[in-house]
Amino acid sequence: MNNRICLSTPHIGSKEKFFVGKAFANNWIAPVGPNIESFEKKLAKLIGVSHVAALSSGTAALHLALIVLNVKPKDTVFCQSFTFTASANPIVYLGAEPVFIDSEADTWNMDPDLLKIALEEANQKNKLPKAIIIVHSFGMPAKMIQLRMIASEYGVPILEDAAEAVGSRIEDTHCGNFGEFSVFSFNGNKIITTSSGGALLSNNGICIQKARFLATQAKDIAPYYQHTNIGYNYSLSNVLAGIGLGQLAVLNDRIAARRANFERYQAYFNKYNSMGYSFQMQNEPEGFFSNRWLTCILIEPNNNLGLTSDIIRIAFEKENIETRPLWKPLHQQPIFESYARYTNGVSERLFTQGLCLPSGSNLTDLDFDRITNCFDAILEKYAQCCTIAI
Ligand SMILES: *Cc1c(COP(=O)(O)O)cnc(C)c1O
Repeated sequence: MNNRICLSTPHIGSKEKFFVGKAFANNWIAPVGPNIESFEKKLAKLIGVSHVAALSSGTAALHLALIVLNVKPKDTVFCQSFTFTASANPIVYLGAEPVFIDSEADTWNMDPDLLKIALEEANQKNKLPKAIIIVHSFGMPAKMIQLRMIASEYGVPILEDAAEAVGSRIEDTHCGNFGEFSVFSFNGNKIITTSSGGALLSNNGICIQKARFLATQAKDIAPYYQHTNIGYNYSLSNVLAGIGLGQLAVLNDRIAARRANFERYQAYFNKYNSMGYSFQMQNEPEGFFSNRWLTCILIEPNNNLGLTSDIIRIAFEKENIETRPLWKPLHQQPIFESYARYTNGVSERLFTQGLCLPSGSNLTDLDFDRITNCFDAILEKYAQCCTIAI
């Protein structure tokens, strides 16, 4: 059996061990230390925000952001439906209620028109949400300029879930610098990793200070342990921050490699599209720059001999190549069944037609050949059986 080709695997550079080694040499094997401080500073500089708290995960960062945004039981929080469940879970941790908003077809992220309708209705009921969680799916920036304008009309803060979008931007503004708060993830499958980790970013220093206080067990200033708040243990380890420092140094290389993957797939599928097939991809609107964390295709069965994303996924699996359907919309998840939603069919279509392809920055030419050979074989088989059927 051939080696497995995975969707996205960690890709370590040459400096991670150096920074981790420094943590060991100086005995900073702790949830505080110089690697963390340096990692936070470098991230802040890259994204252009004034304050960053490195945390144990993206999920922890979302949780703390919602606490700092004063989300309480029975409040509502708007959330993009087309995303990973971790975007919405922290809303429920707090006893608040998500309202799911569908996507538009260009970027696959929150639809500004639906957001406006949802906000207007909420406003009329005098129940505006405490926050709007907007996601940059697969690294593609959402239409932040329009979304931000609409949110500000109603005075509702934006929490950007930029977990997948480190290094993505619109013109010169980085994802992570559009919302009142934003979140990154450095989980092992993301474009850069600390093995597990995350960050909360904001230009509001007081709020980030509050988040740090809550992330470190909410210890009051006293010679003994005294608590007037419920705290959490959400810090990033200084050892892991060392991995992050090494990864930040190669971020641009990783983005270049992922974008090259996308372009390679695009050229490959364009060849089929010019023969009458239809394999669509996530295109960058003018001025948008995606880090291309994952390359995805949409397979429209009517234009592709009845071929579906599921048939392709199973055929790839037989060749030990991992592919995965796009996000199952949160409004279709059993656990979120009872919550309100504003839908337009886009995320449901993305889910039924979409497939994430192997997209690691360490994908080799040989891997790519295996992937395209496998796809060629599927299409050939389908073309043959359809010709016979006709
Ligand atoms: C990965 C991810 C998260 C969660 O980040 P963790 O670091 O794994 O907790 C949240 N939202 C989105 C969109 C993600 O892709």
